[in-house]
Amino acid sequence: MLSSRGALVGAPLLRAALGLGLGPGQRRAASEAHGQGWLQPAGYDTGVKVYNSRTRRKDPLIVGSADATSWYSCGPTVYDHAHLGHACSYVRFDIIRRILTRVFGCNIIMVMGITDVDDKIIRRAREMNVSPTSLANLYEEDFKQDMAALKVLPPTVYLRVTENIPQIISFIEGIIAKGHAYSTAKGNVYFDLQSRGDKYGKLVGVAPGPVGEPVESDKRHASDFALWKAAKPQEMFWASPWGNGRPGWHIECSTISSLVFGSQLDIHSGGIDLAFPHHENEIAQCEVFHQCKQWGNYFLHSGHLHVKGKEEKMSKSLKNYITIKDFLKTASPDVFRLFCMRSSYRSAIDYSDGAVLEAKHLLLAATAFVEDARAYMRGQLVCGPIGEDVLWERLSHTKGAVKAALADDFDTPGAVDAIMDLIHHGNRQLKAVTKEPGGPRSPAVFGSIVSYIEQFFETVGISLADRQPLGSLLQDGGRNRVVGERTPGNSSSSGPSCPAESSPAGQIVGPDCRGSVVCVSLMGSLRWSVYLFVSGDSGSATLHSVVEELVRFRLKVRQFALATGEATREARRQQLLERQPLLEACDTLRQDLVAHGISIKDRSSTSTWELLCQRAQDHKPGS
Ligand SMILES: [Zn+2]
Repeated sequence: MLSSRGALVGAPLLRAALGLGLGPGQRRAASEAHGQGWLQPAGYDTGVKVYNSRTRRKDPLIVGSADATSWYSCGPTVYDHAHLGHACSYVRFDIIRRILTRVFGCNIIMVMGITDVDDKIIRRAREMNVSPTSLANLYEEDFKQDMAALKVLPPTVYLRVTENIPQIISFIEGIIAKGHAYSTAKGNVYFDLQSRGDKYGKLVGVAPGPVGEPVESDKRHASDFALWKAAKPQEMFWASPWGNGRPGWHIECSTISSLVFGSQLDIHSGGIDLAFPHHENEIAQCEVFHQCKQWGNYFLHSGHLHVKGKEEKMSKSLKNYITIKDFLKTASPDVFRLFCMRSSYRSAIDYSDGAVLEAKHLLLAATAFVEDARAYMRGQLVCGPIGEDVLWERLSHTKGAVKAALADDFDTPGAVDAIMDLIHHGNRQLKAVTKEPGGPRSPAVFGSIVSYIEQFFETVGISLADRQPLGSLLQDGGRNRVVGERTPGNSSSSGPSCPAESSPAGQIVGPDCRGSVVCVSLMGSLRWSVYLFVSGDSGSATLHSVVEELVRFRLKVRQFALATGEATREARRQQLLERQPLLEACDTLRQDLVAHGISIKDRSSTSTWELLCQRAQDHKPGS
């Protein structure tokens, strides 16, 4: 059980467990910030300047400890599917968390509270004729799946409200004992806002008003908010010193955060709509409970997702939402991430198909550059002399610009612009020329650029499409083995029948993104088919080799078809005419493979290929 005096020592325990002793963040620098009464913390200066809702300006982000930076995130109220508005907030903070970890050296301990008892849950459960607990469990799992699909890293720990009721009751007792809350004859407990005086409104600078909680007749003042709500008939409840009831919303987050981090909290995040009254009330509760001057050093708020052309945010109540699952049928999580990065996390985003398409194109441009640069490094893309000095200079400039942008309140649009500018400069040098390979090449500078670009995207949680391992696309746990290899029509061969045999000539069946069968068949003048089950990472390697063989084979056929060995013009024309079907078959194969996620590029004297399952998905009609 928690008590107001000594038991809330989560942060010291955490530090002790990490072998840190008392962190410098537990002391405070004496410097008092202008006007707002904000105390600049002491500890590890991340080098980032962050917009702090508590001061309404950019402050240097100084966390208690780089090894255990504390971050509390308000979690979902689990009564329905999450929509893109929620996705946007969680993805934006996930990007910030990854940047803080990977670029600025913070090991973040993130706690997320899950509201699994609430008016909306009780109402919805009643409508669906299920228990609030099973409804909450269902949508909590659904939320976690959506977050995983969006590649949002899970918090260090999820804490559910219903699993922390005794701690919440102790926390309320502490606030009453300090003279900042009162219970009523009806069994409710309210925070006494008048007792807080002008200390209320630190976050949004508002005077106490009747906002947030419904006005109850047993409140002393209309603006007082509920810490404990007496149970209504047929509602779920817990026993308490004030009778049966359940916690108010704001007290949950204060208790759960304090349970883990004590009176010290580096970062608190949530959507901008949570700033008032939710976060304002959390501050009031924690500061009176802990008797501290400042609970929560940095409050970060994300902007809303708007449906383009409308003032309103995407929300369930306005019925203007797109679920995360529906969105992910039309675009990848990487595209959504890049879409989110193209505006500051604080600003409202206008959602439109066009804006998503722009993000898709940017991602494709980055992927195409990486592919071309790799082809150049392998000697498959032959270019004229490269301006190496220019590229080294651009690379160094970009690294500085990206880091500066990220350190300036996580300016992701600035960072993306810098990366795209580097890509632009790289592309200008990659001009193919028609000549045999053998001239001077500059692989090191392109290798460095590619590695930096990949590292940037990896840092923010984006995979460039061609780097997606096939193993992750073909997951069924089976063993990697070739089960049949034959020429179509040869009935003596072994293994299950090949689906390509019933397909039109030249048609490629698979790979699809969920299946485990890959079948490649090129018929007509060339008869060749491969049929294998692939899964897991070794499957990826096998399939890679098979496509490699196929492309090499196709290249030989093409070169044969295009060869001009005959002496007379008429003989050459006749030869080309005879070999035309081979060229057509090569073209058909190339076109059909695109639809299945494999892209072959014919370069001057060679051919290269990329596995583009994601790209193929992004090009689906209507997406
Ligand atoms: Zn909260």
